[in-house]
Amino acid sequence: MTEKINIRKQPLHRKAHDFRWEGVEELPYKEDKRALFKTITRQTLFSDPELRGELRYFEIAPGGFSTLERHEHVHAVLILRGSGRCLVGKKVLALEVCDLVTVPAMTWHQFRATGGTPLGFLCMVNAARDKPQLPTPRDIAALKEDAQVAAFLSEAAGE
Ligand code: MN
Repeated sequence: MTEKINIRKQPLHRKAHDFRWEGVEELPYKEDKRALFKTITRQTLFSDPELRGELRYFEIAPGGFSTLERHEHVHAVLILRGSGRCLVGKKVLALEVCDLVTVPAMTWHQFRATGGTPLGFLCMVNAARDKPQLPTPRDIAALKEDAQVAAFLSEAAGE
């Protein structure tokens, strides 16, 4: 958790290059080996015990995707770079720079970089939050009842 210590000690972290910030560590997306995802990195930009939230920057390489998951905590997302698509509940949404996306509690979601460029976004969450749940085969089957969602998920799984 070295990136959190750095942020607390230092009031300014300058932009380094290309959506990277000085003193902010670029981390693997997640350590959960059960979860399916592809070519995505994470930087925790703001995290402090006095804030109840954390602001992270995620970047998905072209063709990559985040984990299909749900959880009790909410995501507030601001697209900063590139374009792509996301699944929120049963909706497949096109994403462009400066779009805002809210992922409500216990809503299946996944982000994909489909635009041939990296898809970079800020994601605000509660600092204390529950662990993501992964879909069961039954959950996947229920999601795939919608043709548009089925197409989105098939692409994400590389089928
Ligand atoms: Mn999530």
